[in-house]
Amino acid sequence: MKYPKLRELKEAITALIKGPYTSNFPFEPHVPAERFRGKPEFHEQDCVGCGACVNVCPARAIEMRDEGDARILVYRWDLCIFCGQCEANCLTEKGIMLSREFDIASTGEREEQRQEIRKKLVLCDCCGEVIAPYDQLLWVAKKFGPLLYSNTSLLNVFFRERGLAEEENPTGEDSGEMNRARRVEVLCPACKREAAFAS
Ligand code: SF4
Ligand code: SF4
Repeated sequence: MKYPKLRELKEAITALIKGPYTSNFPFEPHVPAERFRGKPEFHEQDCVGCGACVNVCPARAIEMRDEGDARILVYRWDLCIFCGQCEANCLTEKGIMLSREFDIASTGEREEQRQEIRKKLVLCDCCGEVIAPYDQLLWVAKKFGPLLYSNTSLLNVFFRERGLAEEENPTGEDSGEMNRARRVEVLCPACKREAAFAS
């Protein structure tokens, strides 16, 4: 006959006196530990739309696409493995953060298990090419401080956000001939190069 080990015996007696270690969820609400890795959430105010989280997500649970002058980011918790890479690699460190929410089982459509946010894009004043989201450029501009004056495109975006300059090409269509004077507009790298060598 096999006798139970002492450690198991001790655990059994403790459980008999103190009750089981496990929580009573779902009959009672369960509060997870402080550092529990639950469902990530986008914080729209702090996200700049850079897409770093999309690139590091091993489960491809975050999608990103550009439509016209909008960048759309979609987080799908039906695909998420709660690894925390998105939070750890977020440019602003608080654009996407893991919550402690874990009770997300659902009988609904998978398509509904998503969070979507939109970011306005800056388009090249000349060719309409996507440069980056406004919020991302403003975030970089603030990091640059006085060095901002060395980059005309960035400076222009900064001024436009404060209402000190007008948007040159809101439709994203080609707005005319290239010349050197256009170097002060908001241009993509290819148009900037062309403007630098134009007469
Ligand atoms: S927690 Fe991991 S799997 Fe889930 S969205 Fe973030 S990076 Fe992707
Ligand atoms: S700011 Fe953070 S949450 Fe937003 S797209 Fe970049 S990495 Fe993702």
